[in-house]
Amino acid sequence: MLLSIRDIRLALSKGTTVVEIVQGYLQAIENQSSLNAFVEVFEEGALAEAHRIQNKISQGTAGRLAGVVIGIKDNLCFQGHKVSAASKILEPFEALFTATALNRLLEEDAIVIGRLNCDEFAMGSSNEKSCYGPVLNNHDHTYVPGGSSGGSAVAVSAGLCTAALGSDTGGSIRQPASWTGTFGLKPSYGRISRSGLLAYASSFDQIGTFSNNLEDAICLYEIMAGCDPLDATTTTMPVETSLELNRPLTLGILSEYIHHEGIDPYIKHKLEGLLTTLVEAGVTVKTLDFPYMDYIVPAYYVLTTAEASSNLARYDGVHYGFRSTDAEGVDETYIKTRTAGFGEEVKRRIITGTFVLSNEYYDTYYTKAQKVRRLLQEKTKAFFEEVDCLILPTTPTTAFKLGEVKDPIQMYLQDIFTVHANLTGNPAISIPFGMNEHNLPFGLQLMTKQFDEKTLFSTANWLNSYVQ
Ligand code: GLN
Repeated sequence: MLLSIRDIRLALSKGTTVVEIVQGYLQAIENQSSLNAFVEVFEEGALAEAHRIQNKISQGTAGRLAGVVIGIKDNLCFQGHKVSAASKILEPFEALFTATALNRLLEEDAIVIGRLNCDEFAMGSSNEKSCYGPVLNNHDHTYVPGGSSGGSAVAVSAGLCTAALGSDTGGSIRQPASWTGTFGLKPSYGRISRSGLLAYASSFDQIGTFSNNLEDAICLYEIMAGCDPLDATTTTMPVETSLELNRPLTLGILSEYIHHEGIDPYIKHKLEGLLTTLVEAGVTVKTLDFPYMDYIVPAYYVLTTAEASSNLARYDGVHYGFRSTDAEGVDETYIKTRTAGFGEEVKRRIITGTFVLSNEYYDTYYTKAQKVRRLLQEKTKAFFEEVDCLILPTTPTTAFKLGEVKDPIQMYLQDIFTVHANLTGNPAISIPFGMNEHNLPFGLQLMTKQFDEKTLFSTANWLNSYVQ
């Protein structure tokens, strides 16, 4: 099985052709179609690209990602291909341009093998809320893979593509990475252009990667990151990466995370064990107080639903995709299209978002949540004056069974450890940390200061030897 960019390069150097690599993945996708990770496979397009790139290799003009086969979450635009955010309302819609991040990978000769399943409009924590049906966890088919980028996580974990793109608004990369034993990277807000990413909550959304090792995450990040005139929130700060630590680090832990009542005792035990090992090895580990634990999930849901209610107003049955056929007049077209086109969870969020933005409740909810966000940002900034990197659990538990979590609030609480980095914009990564007694994986989360992906990567690389 080809699981990494290194595997691909090795295979190419031994004479395997790009066409054979693509065929291998196509076969794997077919063999494991019951996982429901892909919503569309670009068989013809990927094979045609494979022939073209093989020629470039022969001519010595191939890019850095020649032979690398990626999958894209179904909320990223790839010109001439459908993009639906796993929603009926967009099902027939075709992208008119390619997302900047994806374009940069294509310029380096990556091949896109298909669109990956996700929760509708990236709203969810289990990938059960997709118009294409749920994705199954490849470690045990009776469990969810996490969400919203569940298809991306499973495709990478099961070896159906070399790496995959996802989006992370509140944990949608790191949480499924934790539950599938993959590396899930959410760069700083503003590092990777959001142009061509279907918006959920624009001040939170960030594109990132799933991979089977750290080097691949870094490689894809280096290519995608950087300023883009099509996204005014992208930074001009230089993109730096490193695998080597060039100085002793101070690590930080947030006691409210480790002692959280919802944390699985085994995950807590593993984390405490790691910290003891690190301290014994002479690493400075500081315990910091984080008094805002109870506010992060509510603030996240107030602000993201508000932004979603505005972003999703564009799906009106006129401009994009699906339109109800039995409607008369403008109002009825809007109402019937949106009633039939959006799923239950998306409707719940649009209604919540509209409520928190309403004249009577704006200050009570929206303004207050903005204030909480500001406090969190200040507190988090102060943490990084004391420590270089925070070590946190990615998820309170391992994956749950399909259909097990029915209450929306219970579902929202799955994000308790991941929304922090989205509220503040900091870069964060989930790396595989272990397996529980049912052989279900869970991750370790690292977070560094804004735009300091360099320290994030070097710390992750160094810690990797302790967690293996
Ligand atoms: N689970 C979170 C939510 O439902 C995060 C989603 C995401 O990061 N896109 O909003």
